[in-house]
Amino acid sequence: MRPVQPAPDGAMVVEHGPGTTLLPGLVDGHQHVSWGCQQSASDGIPQEPAAQRAPAIANARRALAGGVTTVQDLGDSDYAVVEVRNAVRGDRSLPRILASGPPITTRGGHCHFLVGAQTAQADIAAAVGARAGRGVDVVKVMVSGGNITPGSLPWESQFGEAALRVLVQHAHDAGIPVAAHAHGATALRACVAAGVDAVEHATFMTADGVDHDPTLLRELAGSGIVVRITPGLVPGGPPPPAAIASRMQQILGQILALWEAGARIVVATDAGIGPGKPHDAMAYAVLQLAAASGDPVGALRAATSQAADSLGLAETCGRLVPGRCADLLVVRGQATTDVGALLEVEAVYRQGDHVAGPSSRPRPPG
Ligand SMILES: [Zn+2]
Repeated sequence: MRPVQPAPDGAMVVEHGPGTTLLPGLVDGHQHVSWGCQQSASDGIPQEPAAQRAPAIANARRALAGGVTTVQDLGDSDYAVVEVRNAVRGDRSLPRILASGPPITTRGGHCHFLVGAQTAQADIAAAVGARAGRGVDVVKVMVSGGNITPGSLPWESQFGEAALRVLVQHAHDAGIPVAAHAHGATALRACVAAGVDAVEHATFMTADGVDHDPTLLRELAGSGIVVRITPGLVPGGPPPPAAIASRMQQILGQILALWEAGARIVVATDAGIGPGKPHDAMAYAVLQLAAASGDPVGALRAATSQAADSLGLAETCGRLVPGRCADLLVVRGQATTDVGALLEVEAVYRQGDHVAGPSSRPRPPG
């Protein structure tokens, strides 16, 4: 193999061979690092932040072994992952961690069981202020209901446009981006109007199917808002929630329509929320997007350069160019034509340190 540039003096040269692909480390912008992948999400989370620390670190390490060198946590209980992030900063045996702290949700709303999450409409500014005071990287808000909270429905909205505008203004005044969980069209419309920085999931779910509103689709695609989709089920695991499973083809169709309309789609996993979503599910998520879109390079970009850009890390990681840190993934096979190569990890490097690999995981059937 011919080096692009001569290695600097004293550098160790590692040859991985001609059958491998060198990629930037994967960037998973939507995980729950402190959650235990239990069937019932709320069962997997200890109450005390101190008790969440060891499992969160183990989960982060599992993500790293799967090639994920940057993780954004979008919802912990009582700032547990913010504390982990602070404690492990600079530790190259773990991925880079960004964290939102507890999501902002309504009383009894989606993920209300997370300590610090429930917020009255009148207290939104204070809730943002509290998160800013804890040094969060992003504010997470549950604009619609979700699939994993009993009594919560993804097609129903929790916060309207006016409340969301207040939230976005206070977060942006503090220099913090807003990531908005939004399934239904009403919630997505409010997100576009209020100018959030990212929408999470964007399934367009309705009570009996998937919404097809070409105006909303066009507005979302043209808004510059990041659309962070969260596929990535491991093979052999339990199926997704019934409401998702029955709408899967329609949801994929909507994602492809957004993709073709030029939306800023990035791929992530929502890892931690259930048994089918372990913290190293990212390769499967990229594979699913590549299969649906027929665009393997586009899917890889959505998991590397564009994913890094979406987290404000464009100058830090996500590209193989001089000046970015050496968060690297080496896989066996030609990943640019066969994304399944991501499952054959040769080596993972975190800021130049070899931290994981080799390892091999099964391809999904079909
Ligand atoms: Zn989530």
